[in-house]
Amino acid sequence: MLKNFISPYDAHIVKLCKKSGLVLLGKTNLDEFAMGSSNESSYFGPCKNPWDLSRIPGGSSGGSAAAISANLTPIATGTDTGGSIRQPASMCNITGLKPTYGLVSRYGIIAYASSLDQAGPMGNSAEDCALLLNIISGYDKKDSTSSFAHKKDFTKILNNSIKGIKIGIPEDYFSKGLDPKIELTIQHALKKYESMGAKLKSIRMKHNDICISAYYIIAQAEASSNLAKYDGIRFGYRCQNPKNLWDLYERSRGEGFGEIVKQRILAGTFMLSSEFYNSYYIKAQKIRRLIFQDFQKAFEKVDVIMGPTSPILPYKIGKNKNDLSLLYLSDMYTLALNMAGLPGITIPAGFVKKLPIGLQIISPAFTEEKLLNIAHQFQLNTDWHMQKPQNIL
Ligand code: GLN
Repeated sequence: MLKNFISPYDAHIVKLCKKSGLVLLGKTNLDEFAMGSSNESSYFGPCKNPWDLSRIPGGSSGGSAAAISANLTPIATGTDTGGSIRQPASMCNITGLKPTYGLVSRYGIIAYASSLDQAGPMGNSAEDCALLLNIISGYDKKDSTSSFAHKKDFTKILNNSIKGIKIGIPEDYFSKGLDPKIELTIQHALKKYESMGAKLKSIRMKHNDICISAYYIIAQAEASSNLAKYDGIRFGYRCQNPKNLWDLYERSRGEGFGEIVKQRILAGTFMLSSEFYNSYYIKAQKIRRLIFQDFQKAFEKVDVIMGPTSPILPYKIGKNKNDLSLLYLSDMYTLALNMAGLPGITIPAGFVKKLPIGLQIISPAFTEEKLLNIAHQFQLNTDWHMQKPQNIL
């Protein structure tokens, strides 16, 4: 749909990066319109995981994660609607932060699901992410959901002690679907935090299991609306020799969009139809509120929440092409944060079969400096994040 599209203006965060003197190397691969968890639905073909070239790098921002992992660039940006920064970062052994909704301007970023989308930093360490977040965060009047919060220095408390912090461990994150070897790696990482003076406390995230369904209703509904403008007239690809106006719309969208995108537009349109709006969209919004309340309750007892970023290891490219359920399940720990608008970071925590495992840390809204501090302290005491795949530049 946007193959040869050259944006007539820069996104707000691109402007900020240029202003600060960063050199922009180019665009990275991703799933079409950021829909996916494996990078296999990219129009330009799948991106590969530098740790094993036959495997997915995760998605949708797999290109950014792979580029950092392979030392092609020290930092990159990604967008995260349901996990697209954290999940590929975890699968490529890098650090990735999804900021609080509203902390980073969405102006100029192609929308997938506007109430969930958020751009954020990816890098080799929490410190690098903090430096990039310093550049790209802040109020922007061109994004109506941009936060008025004062600009912060996210590197300021990186070196604070984390002794005595309370870490919530949701029982619900260590259940069906989690690879037992990943679970073991995460338990080791949690022990490490304990040895650094943190206190672990078991908590519940009761609605996490219905989060996937609710997320896909909201995301697809918003996507169907956001992507309506790509009709061959206003924006995007236009088909050759249309017979009439209807044919132009139908073929431009039919030929211009990939399969996953079309499936989601259809599902979203269906769920927003007057007949089904109440039983799908409204219900999903109610579940969204319950998920938010789960976090609110948890943060009355603990400072941060920790668990695995992904329940599965990066799988072989093409292996699960027809298994949509696996694609959906691979985001089971990341989606809830977008539903609640909360920040989350993933940090390298070990390896299983020479493939990277990420630990996800979640904190209350607009407490990224704390999140980065807790991640940085782990990285001062471990060297998982320093590991690089073999045979890279
Ligand atoms: N995998 C999720 C989806 O396809 C999340 C993608 C994202 O965060 N952009 O919707």
